[in-house]
Amino acid sequence: MIAAVLVTATLAALMGLALTLAERPTPRREALLIEGLNDLLPQTQCGRCTFSGCRPYATAIARGEAGIDQCPPGGERTAHALARFMGVAPRPVDPRFGQVPATPAVAWIDEPACIGCTKCIQACPVDAIVGASRYMHTVIAAQCTGCELCIAPCPVDCIEMRPAPFDLATARIAGR
Ligand code: SF4
Ligand code: SF4
Ligand code: SF4
Repeated sequence: MIAAVLVTATLAALMGLALTLAERPTPRREALLIEGLNDLLPQTQCGRCTFSGCRPYATAIARGEAGIDQCPPGGERTAHALARFMGVAPRPVDPRFGQVPATPAVAWIDEPACIGCTKCIQACPVDAIVGASRYMHTVIAAQCTGCELCIAPCPVDCIEMRPAPFDLATARIAGR
């Protein structure tokens, strides 16, 4: 009797292990999944999803460690595209991760007020700011993703978000 129970328990454990291994994607499949998910993300690199950038977020989704509703810059369109790609039910962006921006924005520097400390350059994940130590800095609008990461580090509060130029805004809305 005890032997029969032990055999049954062992078989159940082995079946559970086999199922777990079958569900786990191969490294190649996981890499393709991450690539596909990353392609759907806006590449703002703002970190609002709680990950250090778009690719780490894509990796977390692929591994079942994050939901498809954590990217405010991507808005509803990105959330739905991620849901379709993962074959899960679509849902809107969770407001706990931030508000979906109504219109695309880019950073703007009040150049006369800039003291040239370079802190904004160090904060910008996409190299959209040019300037040198003790010289005024400026934003290359076409490069700026609107992540807002440069605003907090500025010691003289001379950076603000402004509506993106029309052609840039149109391109971003089309890409959402
Ligand atoms: S919130 Fe969206 S745009 Fe920002 S880093 Fe995460 S995935 Fe990228
Ligand atoms: S300039 Fe500022 S808002 Fe624009 S991408 Fe760089 S850090 Fe983000
Ligand atoms: S952080 Fe502010 S003061 Fe410093 S370089 Fe950038 S814009 Fe100028």
